[in-house]
Amino acid sequence: MRWGEMRGSGNVEDRESAGPAGGFGGGLKLGGVGLIAVLAISWFLGLNPLDVLMSLQGEDSSSVPTQSAPPGSSAPGARDETKEFIARVLGDTEDTWSTIFKEMGHEYRPPKLVLFRGAVDSACGLASSAVGPFYCASDGRVYLDRSFLEDLSKRFGAPGEFARAYVIAHEVGHHVQNQLGIMEKVAQRRGGTSEARSHALSVLVELQADCFAGVWGHSAKRRNLLDPGDVEAGLAAAAAIGDDRLQQQSRGRVAPESFTHGSSAQRVRWFRAGLDSGDVSQCNTFETARP
Ligand SMILES: [Zn+2]
Repeated sequence: MRWGEMRGSGNVEDRESAGPAGGFGGGLKLGGVGLIAVLAISWFLGLNPLDVLMSLQGEDSSSVPTQSAPPGSSAPGARDETKEFIARVLGDTEDTWSTIFKEMGHEYRPPKLVLFRGAVDSACGLASSAVGPFYCASDGRVYLDRSFLEDLSKRFGAPGEFARAYVIAHEVGHHVQNQLGIMEKVAQRRGGTSEARSHALSVLVELQADCFAGVWGHSAKRRNLLDPGDVEAGLAAAAAIGDDRLQQQSRGRVAPESFTHGSSAQRVRWFRAGLDSGDVSQCNTFETARP
């Protein structure tokens, strides 16, 4: 992937240097609201809340030998390649979506991307890096712990820069949904509906974000910014982070009723739909009989 030719975005907000519990001011204090947030996030992802709490506390600065500096800012003036990669991919999504929005007669207002370590406070509550990257519609920000990108290759066997870019483009896809008013409509539909139906709606939101990530991929491909094998790596990432695959890895069984992102096959299919067409109208997961 020729990311060095992409424009770097100025919308990366670095909260990594704020320390492992960035924004909490040193030691981790989990108040009532924070605890509820952890429990809610754990339930949402089917994780054991204790694991999440442990991973939060494990990052507590008091239990970690004093580091001279967090990774990425170790040597002043040294090039932080991961951060540069993130900024350039984000910048490229900004250019792509600005063009597409203009064609639709809208103006694209790009999201901020918050880089954090360990845990972060957002308008959507407290989150540990165990939840993976996420988008908070209330503050219009993408939250990303760089270790997730690094883990992607280690844990899911999905190496390749394009696989990492896909993760960023997926979160940006949620921002696009927010800008297009789709999230608001979904929230309205969700009101008064059953829990099962609400879950199904979440899956459709996720699959559409995958399709939007594909739309960005289509644009990058057309501008000759992809190398042979990049698309395959992106598809492998889509498959690797399907709910069925993640559940199998974490609990050894698959429970479709708790899927929040869709199965591996669904994720690959919708990413492909965006990638092949480059057309937002091909991403209507809500009007498809069998997503
Ligand atoms: Zn998502």
